[in-house]
Amino acid sequence: MTHWLRDAAERSIRYIEGVNERPVYPAPDALAALHQFDEPLPDEPLPPESVIALLDDVGSPATVATVGGRYFGFVTGGALPATVAANWLAAAWDQNAGVNTMSPTTVYLEEIAMRWLLDALRLPAESGVGFVTGATTANFACLAAARHRLLARAGWDVEARGLFGAPEITVVVGEEVHVSVLQALMMVGFGRERLMRVPVDAQGRMIPAALPGLDERTIVCIQAGNVNTGAFDPAAEICAAAHAAGAWVHVDGAFGLWALASEQMAHLAASVPDADSWATDGHKWLNVPYDSGIAICRDAEAMRNAMTVTAPYLVQDAQRQPYHYTPEMSRRARGVEVWAAFKSLGKNGLAQLIEETSAHARRFGQELRAAGFTVHNEIVLNQVLVSFGDAETTDAVIAEIQREGVLWAGRSVWQGHTAMRISVSSWATTEEDVERSLEAILRAAEHVLHLG
Ligand SMILES: *Cc1c(COP(=O)(O)O)cnc(C)c1O
Repeated sequence: MTHWLRDAAERSIRYIEGVNERPVYPAPDALAALHQFDEPLPDEPLPPESVIALLDDVGSPATVATVGGRYFGFVTGGALPATVAANWLAAAWDQNAGVNTMSPTTVYLEEIAMRWLLDALRLPAESGVGFVTGATTANFACLAAARHRLLARAGWDVEARGLFGAPEITVVVGEEVHVSVLQALMMVGFGRERLMRVPVDAQGRMIPAALPGLDERTIVCIQAGNVNTGAFDPAAEICAAAHAAGAWVHVDGAFGLWALASEQMAHLAASVPDADSWATDGHKWLNVPYDSGIAICRDAEAMRNAMTVTAPYLVQDAQRQPYHYTPEMSRRARGVEVWAAFKSLGKNGLAQLIEETSAHARRFGQELRAAGFTVHNEIVLNQVLVSFGDAETTDAVIAEIQREGVLWAGRSVWQGHTAMRISVSSWATTEEDVERSLEAILRAAEHVLHLG
């Protein structure tokens, strides 16, 4: 009866075992073959093994090999073995992790994962935590909590009355704010343009001396890990100034927050734990499958007030109900994968993951600089921004690298410079992957420069 599950497992194993042998980006014929999925909604049923066979035969070759060791695009984690396996088992359980009575196992596991997370990231143990879909949703949940607290202090019940006629809130961001924070500000009703933007330095760090006057109706959004450079906003100065004024500090730490998990690297994020709320991702540097974001708020009550609704059939007791801390009600048990990541890595394995991927990034930077190319950022974390000449040349090199398929890295523009961005975020990347990738990059650059 379950042979189709075994078949699916075997196909998944073959996929994972072969992922380093194929082009990182799918070949054009594999993409063209996707049209085989394009048919009218079938009238008749099809057995599950045939569904899976089609999915694998047509779908697998057209995937991007982000679980392999040489995908460096955007900021993309792989998926640790224990987390993929936990994901399969949790899918078999199919629990609704939002409500305690519907899933005692996963709710309990998520509570453990939450405690370990706060420990690993040196964040306040009393914080409220929500397992959400990604850092965008985590930013949203945290900013909604900030909105609740600042307006409640002003005597305004924003959840009941909305923002119409509410006291005004000022939002301060850096010039290099991530677009997902803007999206969250848009969804929370503050508007994505009604902001005060603070100038930044060459690494994208906010200049604290340029902060505007802050007060008890201000939210300052800082970042731990700029998406291009990996740089950290100066949290110590900003948190001190904000808290002296009664303002709220929110941290977008989608990947950079994980520097706190390493003794060696925690200094980069020093004072980040002084903030009031933090958004991060599990699916980036922690290397759990999509979708996995985490919203953390020192003021757990503010988070609950911002996220909760009640109905007579929902249990109201002293026990923690996960849906009180997320925009979702029903959801999958994504915290189980977070638990599995922590359990399989341990504190030391987690620190090692963060340190080794950062060391790979430094190696990319050193060798590309030594080859005469311009690396725009100080490589403090896992991000490298490199130009191979002018914009046109850099674009041509990126195109050649992507065409060859040994690795995949994307394009960015950093303060006017077109660059290739290398983000080393996967547990699966080895020294050998870095070497093969460097050879491919230098080969592509030579090819383009020779042509020019
Ligand atoms: C990826 C990223 C986000 C958005 O995260 P999602 O998980 O894609 O929603 C926000 N901020 C930074 C700095 C990021 O790198």
